[in-house]
Amino acid sequence: ERKHLHRLRREPTRTLDGVDIRLYANAETREDIASAHALGAAGVGLYRTEYLFLQRRELPDEEEQFHAYRDLVLGMTGRSVTVRTVDLGADKIDHAGLALRDEPNPALGLRGVRLSLAHPRILETQLRALLRASGYGPLRILLPMVASRAEIRAVRAELDRVAGVLRAEGHAITDRIPLGAMIEVPAAAIALSSFIDEVDFLSIGTNDLVQYLLAADRINESLGELYTPLHPAVIRILRDVIRLAHAREVPVSVCGEMAGDAAFAPLLLALGLLEFSLHPGTLLELRRAIRSHDLSELRAAAPALLRARDRDGIERWLHAHTRASA
Ligand code: PEP
Ligand code: MG
Repeated sequence: ERKHLHRLRREPTRTLDGVDIRLYANAETREDIASAHALGAAGVGLYRTEYLFLQRRELPDEEEQFHAYRDLVLGMTGRSVTVRTVDLGADKIDHAGLALRDEPNPALGLRGVRLSLAHPRILETQLRALLRASGYGPLRILLPMVASRAEIRAVRAELDRVAGVLRAEGHAITDRIPLGAMIEVPAAAIALSSFIDEVDFLSIGTNDLVQYLLAADRINESLGELYTPLHPAVIRILRDVIRLAHAREVPVSVCGEMAGDAAFAPLLLALGLLEFSLHPGTLLELRRAIRSHDLSELRAAAPALLRARDRDGIERWLHAHTRASA
């Protein structure tokens, strides 16, 4: 079993009918990055930068961030890396450098891109470090918790300004660094057509999207099965986001835990997903599952999936469309 999975390290992630699916890694640690590389990940699809900011008194300065991002880019030797700007909220920081007020509902508070825009120095420092690191290989910038067009435009304006400053300082900065948005706030998913022209790529964060869509706290264990991606509302919104992104030729991936669970692969493939980002620990299992499926068959079964009216119905669909992995 293990040995068999191991053999898949050098195999393509290709469906039975010959369609290549891109598997990216969610990676932060040196070990994650090394295994992403060794397992043949297409790149790093989600590099969460929170760890640089947590459990310390001072904010990380530009040099420290630059070194972390440059090491990441160099570690992936030319494969693309997607770095997410910091997704912090009142629940996560109590820095000397950043006196955040307590919030009654941090999950609905000043977090993600909202916090970066409210503290321009945090955003400026992070963008400077990212732009400098982008000189060492392909790097994309991903914004968490985007809810509106105005937020992306504000970051884009700051990105352009900072790039100009860096060039004036003599840094060689690439012309246009791809800027993308996480789709994890339901408003952003529903109103995607109002800002899709502002982004270069999208990444669906199902961990938060499920939480906000179903009003079910992702860390509240007493909610049990109320927190689940197997809800018709989740299926429909995933279908809509993937469909619109493809129609507009904007690359889209799923980077929440859902993408790393091989049991959900038939569902995501049926909805048209071609890019997954997941922890390297389950990458080979997902590759094996994808290789056992026929994409055109799953695409043809999507209408039945969308007709499922409850969790049981979705599970029955999944059961009917899961193939034993060879
Ligand atoms: C998500 O919300 O699905 C996601 C990938 O981001 P995080 O888990 O860091 O909130
Ligand atoms: Mg999230």
